[in-house]
Amino acid sequence: MTQEFHKKAIQHPIFRLVGETSEELGIDSYVIGGFVRDYFLNRGTPKDIDIVAIGSGIELAKKVASKLKGKPQVSVFKNFGTAMIKYEDLELEFVGARKESYQRNSRKPIVEDGTLQDDQDRRDFTINAMALALNTSNFGQLLDPFNGRKDLSQKIIRTPLDPKITYSDDPLRMMRAVRFASQLNFEIEVKSLQAISENKDRIKIVSKERIVDELHKILMSEKPSIGFKLMHQTGLLPIILPELTALQGIEEVEGQRHKDNFWHTLEVVDNISENTNNLWLRWAALLHDIGKAPTKRFHKKIGWTFHAHEFVGSKMVYKLFKRLRMPLNDKMKFVQKMVLMSSRPIVLSEDFVTDSAVRRLVFDAGDNVEDLMTLCEADITTKNPRKQRKYKNNFKIVRQKIIEVEEKDHVRNFQPPVSGEEIMKTFNLKPSREIGILKEAIKEAILEGEIPNEYQAAFDFMLQKGKEMNLNPVSNEK
Ligand code: ATP
Repeated sequence: MTQEFHKKAIQHPIFRLVGETSEELGIDSYVIGGFVRDYFLNRGTPKDIDIVAIGSGIELAKKVASKLKGKPQVSVFKNFGTAMIKYEDLELEFVGARKESYQRNSRKPIVEDGTLQDDQDRRDFTINAMALALNTSNFGQLLDPFNGRKDLSQKIIRTPLDPKITYSDDPLRMMRAVRFASQLNFEIEVKSLQAISENKDRIKIVSKERIVDELHKILMSEKPSIGFKLMHQTGLLPIILPELTALQGIEEVEGQRHKDNFWHTLEVVDNISENTNNLWLRWAALLHDIGKAPTKRFHKKIGWTFHAHEFVGSKMVYKLFKRLRMPLNDKMKFVQKMVLMSSRPIVLSEDFVTDSAVRRLVFDAGDNVEDLMTLCEADITTKNPRKQRKYKNNFKIVRQKIIEVEEKDHVRNFQPPVSGEEIMKTFNLKPSREIGILKEAIKEAILEGEIPNEYQAAFDFMLQKGKEMNLNPVSNEK
């Protein structure tokens, strides 16, 4: 192995300090993993630093902390044999080098103390197994037994040892492989892809939370379709997100075909990722069509339909989140709302855009109207340039009208300009159906643009509507 030194990567004084402290303890230490990988990828200097000690990581961490300004606290995780120090904006994680062996039914290994080589052997990928020495004698020396640098330059995800064993031992690594490929735009080597396909069912022993973490990272990559295509290709997707796999395929009946909604969805996710870093909006893009599989029908006269797929899809979002143990909170409701409303602006964009349709859209979407527009614009995947131009242009008109309607009518977070109480007082009514009818009529008149969203106009309208309903205002003698 040629001796390469990369002191530049470890310029921060903390690394010298860790090295000197190791020597005092008579042990070796190295910075390893993501930090080294990201340095070579020029992804900036990571704030998470993994340090492996050939000895006790906890002891090293304690001694390092005692020498640091402000003597930061050391969080010790005895069960894992690790210790963590937060210092300035850095998070330093210390661990003793270890050798791992696995049992079939768990991804938690039996751990013994080991050498640096043992520790590098247990790493998931060659690009994550590189280490830089911290001791004075060889400060900055790269230890790269699996040629991770070459894999970085060739953009390839490869396991240090036999991939069949690596993925079977800890099946989370299958998701990590897909995630790194997606984040870094790398390929997974063929042997690894085969091993993932063979071990795909073992993903079931991985906790949902860990899987979802990886899904989030895939979704947040520049081009998430890379990850989803790999999940599809290896067979992980139908286990984790069967709702998406169900969208795959084109059926033809009597010469009529529908588009492949799986590949369409992946295009939509890539499109939206160019315009938003909102993870939940990206989730919405991923799930916006899931209701199409269970609602697909063929009608002799009209062809393929997906009646109420938005509604069905929004219900499926809840089940999917629940199954993946994702929090059933406002974020989920946001995704549901986006899925439910996902066709609304599209209908507008295909047609002549009226003010009242836009007003209704703003009313229903509330503060999420911009996100909804972003979703719908991403949904344009037609390859027909004429249609593409037309839809995009219509969306521009819709966006402009949203601004105009907002300035004029303020219906985004609609508050009725005349309250139920005032209606009761005006007509001397007890709580009754009539009040609801009048309130709804006022709202409708505003949304239709018959009256402005203002108190006096709404009050006059209420009087007139009341009259039609044979309601008489009580006289206002003062
Ligand atoms: P990121 O911060 O983007 O997730 P990372 O590589 O730093 O990247 P961590 O999860 O912090 O990811 O892991 C740190 C290092 O630990 C990895 O670089 C890898 O060497 C090793 N590692 C993490 N998880 C596994 C695993 N499941 N199997 C084997 N090695 C792993």
